Amino acid sequence: MNLYEDNFRHQGMRKKLVETIKSKGITDSAVLEAIMQVPRHFFLDKAFLNQAYSDQAFQIGSGQTISQPYTVAYQTSLLEIARGDKILEIGTGSGYQTCVLIKMGAKVFTIERQKELYDKAVKFLPVIGYNPKFFFGDGYKGLSSYAPFDKILVTCGAPVIPEELIKQLKPGGIMVIPVGSGDVQVMTVLRKAHDGEIRIQELSKFRFVPMLSDKERGAANDISV
Ligand code: SAH
Repeated sequence: MNLYEDNFRHQGMRKKLVETIKSKGITDSAVLEAIMQVPRHFFLDKAFLNQAYSDQAFQIGSGQTISQPYTVAYQTSLLEIARGDKILEIGTGSGYQTCVLIKMGAKVFTIERQKELYDKAVKFLPVIGYNPKFFFGDGYKGLSSYAPFDKILVTCGAPVIPEELIKQLKPGGIMVIPVGSGDVQVMTVLRKAHDGEIRIQELSKFRFVPMLSDKERGAANDISV
């Protein structure tokens, strides 16, 4: 039996999800196409098929959360991805967002600080055909040995924009990061001009699991909403 079956029913459900995301204002056809192509039900237990294709974040065991599809589409649109972009992602989580980026032709370097989640993603993503570069570590530090990056995506709520990540962004690059230390974060787009000048744009509000530093304990019960 094929554990990872993606049949017409699944594709039909996914098409509806894409329509929902579109109706919420996502117009980038490459992003919508990537959402259409990544089987989100692979990331959830079989019993949760309906949840896989509803526009909701979902807790999928061992403290793992899968982001809301709209949020994934929104952040991905803001990154203005071109094929071949080298992207640093902070917060691998389930790996769903990672797969959407790869589907769009990006080369993804993804960091996760929770060992259990890291281990799971390292095993699972290649099985379903996605091969980012995985790192277990602290996203606040980025990956200086692989820098600079065309784009940086943070998928957890950061109290501030980490200076180290700004350094690792290529001139001409874009960072998308939810900023805020409370329950709510402001989706923030940081652009580094070719002369190094930084421009910051603040957009809508979201709720993410917190971006934790090494000193803080793991957030086993957090859920992104
Ligand atoms: N993008 C994921 C959702 C991630 S939830 C998906 O599509 O499923 C946010 C993730 O960020 C969690 O897995 C959390 O453990 C991780 N995280 C929190 N702080 C971090 C840090 N400092 N470095 C790396 N990952 C971090």
